[in-house]
Amino acid sequence: MSIELKNLSKSYDGNTLTLKDVSVRIETGEFFAIVGPSGCGKSTLLRMIAGLIPATDGNVLIDEKDVTNLPPQDRNLTMVFQNYALFPFLTVKDNVAFGLKARKVDQTEIDQRVAKALEMVDLAELGDRKPKELSGGQRQRVALARAIASDAKICLMDEPLSNLDAQLRTKMRAEIRELQQHLGLTVIYVTHDQVEAMTMADRIMVLHDHEVQQIGTPLQIYQDP
Ligand code: ADP
Ligand code: ADP
Repeated sequence: MSIELKNLSKSYDGNTLTLKDVSVRIETGEFFAIVGPSGCGKSTLLRMIAGLIPATDGNVLIDEKDVTNLPPQDRNLTMVFQNYALFPFLTVKDNVAFGLKARKVDQTEIDQRVAKALEMVDLAELGDRKPKELSGGQRQRVALARAIASDAKICLMDEPLSNLDAQLRTKMRAEIRELQQHLGLTVIYVTHDQVEAMTMADRIMVLHDHEVQQIGTPLQIYQDP
């Protein structure tokens, strides 16, 4: 699914703009990264796209439909965050199934989707464990499985790897990219890590001083920093 942002702005205090006039079209199946220093408004932008916070100005379109005033559950998207809170008292399976149960999806279908999602992230054998019995990387993969099981075609990720060590991060970058291509997901990936954006993304948006400074392929950004 495509995502279009039209002159999107955000002010938290009704005075200063945390995000000024962001416009871009992200195509179906694109891996789109948003980079910029801490505090420049990356998470704010992602949360507006998700519908978690209202836009002060501008519009969000998903597959050409204006969703600016729709709640998150009506936007056909899923999210993976930095500290993706897994429920400690639920098994891996139940953590992955949680959103589907809340949406009253049929139990047989839940079982199938959860099994498939866990298989895709290579956790099929660990479905009955609790989060504390997993390593950091495995827990992050549970969060990914949850996103996969949701069946949404858009996945918003906010620094999903920043708590992992360097070696695991490199491995997970490749895994996320592989899953994204396999599922044909449109991904918007927020990171403060330039290298991460350069190695993963089809295109990158650079935010600076609460504005779009540049949008381009990694090569274009590299040649014209
Ligand atoms: P980034 O993700 O790039 O680090 P954020 O979008 O988290 O940036 O934050 C951008 C700015 O907006 C920061 O100055 C931050 O303090 C401010 N901000 C974020 N969330 C809120 C909020 N709920 N209320 C007021 N200000 C906020
Ligand atoms: P390991 O045993 O593989 O070293 P840890 O459980 O010690 O893994 O976690 C390593 C790091 O990863 C910690 O900083 C932890 O906070 C972080 N981490 C663990 N699970 C997650 C998760 N689901 N999402 C984000 N960060 C996580």
